[in-house]
Amino acid sequence: MLRASLTPRRSTMSTKIPSPIGLDRYPHLFAPLDLGFTRLKNRALMGSMHTGLEEAEGGFPRLAAYFAERARADVGMIITGGISPNPEGGFGEAGGALTDAEGVANHRLVTAAVHDADTQVKICMQILHAGPLARNPGLVAPSAVRSRIGSFMPHELDDAGIDKQLADFARCAALARQAGYDGVEIIGSAGYLLSTFLVEKTNRRSDRWGGPFEHRMRFPVEVVRRVREAAGPGFIVIYRIAAMDMLEGGMAWDEIVTLAKAIEAAGADIMSTHFCWHEAPVPTIATMVPRAAFTRVTGRLRRELRIPMITSNRINMPEVAEAVLARGDADLVSMARPMLADPELVSKALHGREDEINTCIACNQACLDHTFGGQEVSCLVNPRACHETVLNYPAVARPKRIAVVGAGPAGLSFATLAAQRGHRVSLFDAGAEIGGQFLLAKRIPGKEEFAETLRYWQRMIERHGIDVRLGTRADAAMLRAGNFDEVVVATGIVPRRPAIPGIEHPSVVPYIDAILGSRPIGRRVAIMGAGGIGFDVAALVTQAGPSAALDAAVFAREWGIDFERHPRGGVTGVKPEAAPSGRTVTLLQRKPEALGRNLGKTTGWAHRMALARRGVQMIGGVEYLAIDDAGLHTRVGGEPRLFEVDTVIVCAGQLPLRTLADELSAPGPGKTAVLGGDLSSPAELDLLRNDSGPKVHLIGGAFEAAELDAKRAIAQAARLAATV
Ligand code: FAD
Ligand code: NAP
Ligand code: SF4
Repeated sequence: MLRASLTPRRSTMSTKIPSPIGLDRYPHLFAPLDLGFTRLKNRALMGSMHTGLEEAEGGFPRLAAYFAERARADVGMIITGGISPNPEGGFGEAGGALTDAEGVANHRLVTAAVHDADTQVKICMQILHAGPLARNPGLVAPSAVRSRIGSFMPHELDDAGIDKQLADFARCAALARQAGYDGVEIIGSAGYLLSTFLVEKTNRRSDRWGGPFEHRMRFPVEVVRRVREAAGPGFIVIYRIAAMDMLEGGMAWDEIVTLAKAIEAAGADIMSTHFCWHEAPVPTIATMVPRAAFTRVTGRLRRELRIPMITSNRINMPEVAEAVLARGDADLVSMARPMLADPELVSKALHGREDEINTCIACNQACLDHTFGGQEVSCLVNPRACHETVLNYPAVARPKRIAVVGAGPAGLSFATLAAQRGHRVSLFDAGAEIGGQFLLAKRIPGKEEFAETLRYWQRMIERHGIDVRLGTRADAAMLRAGNFDEVVVATGIVPRRPAIPGIEHPSVVPYIDAILGSRPIGRRVAIMGAGGIGFDVAALVTQAGPSAALDAAVFAREWGIDFERHPRGGVTGVKPEAAPSGRTVTLLQRKPEALGRNLGKTTGWAHRMALARRGVQMIGGVEYLAIDDAGLHTRVGGEPRLFEVDTVIVCAGQLPLRTLADELSAPGPGKTAVLGGDLSSPAELDLLRNDSGPKVHLIGGAFEAAELDAKRAIAQAARLAATV
């Protein structure tokens, strides 16, 4: 299928109905795409995200609701999470493969829900054969090469095994068509089966499936040919190619072009670009990656092919998508995580409500970290994602007057959702701005996106008419006088101040002051505490020049990517020096283990690597003894050690701030404190039942500071808002 011209669409609607504003604002994004045998209503694609529901008991009705909600909101095409063509290619022992009539019946729930929601929306099933990344002992690969992140050593395929895999791909595509899908996407990247045929590192064969590149690409090309043959014409076949695999010794540009042309000739309708192998040591989708950093590579490949191209990676707002399309980098834009964060992203763009988009901040905390941790996927900023049938915010018949104290993530999540349901909400914060600790997080280089969440909440405050009282430290008397029906205490935390001799020394700086820049930081710095905040502070004080997240050239330099010359894998192999800050920084913790083990599963390695490249020393097993003019006195591994530093930044964790909660729970008649208990149960959130006064709830850091993060604070608040 030849590429249709990307013609901006003018309204063809009746002159009496004004066209949605988005058609003018995003003419490329809302231009339809004619594939000849079918037509996509716009260029906004919901990219593939594995949710965990594919394998879960009773997961398909939930998947159907999840996709239908996005289909109702104007997305042009949806790609499902990866479905294996056979058990050996799957992520788990149970389910997840489409091999029979039972599977077809399950998948019909999804396709019917999407087409019922909007007949114009297309849905394609991604066929994902995990190869050496499959999480079952029957896994297969071109050669017995275990992936660095794989669970088992794969079995090398023999000729019969290869024939079986090809037949399974073909059967899977035919079954997908029976199930009502409009097409399939074959994933040929990321370290999954097809991509492991392509590079010598994982393909050590010398038969017709290995050796020179023409042989190594035979398997993926044959998969496409067999899928096309089995599914027949009039069915969308998308191939996802690694346009930059980020591997040293990975694919060369001419190999990528050769492969892409062969895939096109084998019958693919659309080419989608991917930029990773999961084990490659370059971040490609985390929040430290600039928006749309990779799309120019798609643009270069687009010039070599005739079929339409999809691009992706860190495209999280409509204006970014529009710019990518307008400069000719692609024909379609894939947004996967952004559609978890906001199911209505496309319709909000269409109707000029961009400021209401709940933007994906690329944290990975509730999506990819869950996928790779074997948990169901959701979203940090939208805990309802993938929980559409179980977490809802119905309008209330009898609105209550609710006071929310604390405009951090917990208070904001609760206040905006409760007000959306119709409650009358007053929101108090002692600070001059809403945001709580997110006001600090957004100052960290690589976390600039956190500002988008605050913009979203601010807009929700306006939209739902929340009465906001900034610069107001609420106390019990004020709240009692306010005659509220319920009070939600979301007062957050206080930083822990370790009881170490010399903690009052002028060289000691709390992390809040370090982040706000309200105290000078010297050239030789020790950071006490290596949790998420310790790592963030280390990134901040070693930063010099523009943040890599805001500048693709800086990002490329920091991570050794060469977008222009595109060496093998796209990477130079040179360990780049990040712009020197001139500071010597040492990150310390008491636990005698590697630092950063509790950071995100899919991003922790990048944070560790980024700091190591800036020369940050990381030391565990430290006992803090004293701080004085000489520096920080410690024992490390039992031996005395002095860190001769001029600044000690304290990032030693947090304690719940419960002053207000304690005031409200002061003993009195008819009051029962029920603090504590199971965080997942809203009933357990009640701090205090007071027969004569308001009912009081405690959420977020104020409820529990240990292992608190924004994901937990926001989700806990959302669950309470759903039931209050
Ligand atoms: P807070 O954010 O602490 O908000 C509490 C609010 O209550 C404050 O605004 C305070 O002014 C107000 N308040 C307190 N007492 C009163 C009173 N009596 N009256 C009125 N107002 C009052 N989490 C993640 O999940 N991912 C991250 O990447 C991440 N990065 C971070 C980076 C940094 C630098 C920091 C500091 C934190 C980061 N966090 C991150 C943690 C996350 O921000 C917190 O878990 C989250 O903010 C907790 O939300 P909260 O609403 O419970 O409390
Ligand atoms: P944290 O992750 O609990 O880390 C606290 C650090 O302080 C640890 O290194 C701990 O290690 C040390 N510590 C604890 N008690 C101490 C004491 N008495 N004296 C000296 N050191 C002590 O907490 P955080 O870094 O303050 O972060 C707060 C929350 O925000 C965390 O739960 C985190 O998940 C979240 N956050 C997340 C991210 C992210 O990227 N996902 C980023 C920032 C913050 P030792 O006890 O071994 O010394
Ligand atoms: Fe985006 Fe974070 Fe939500 Fe994942 S959890 S979709 S990365 S905001």
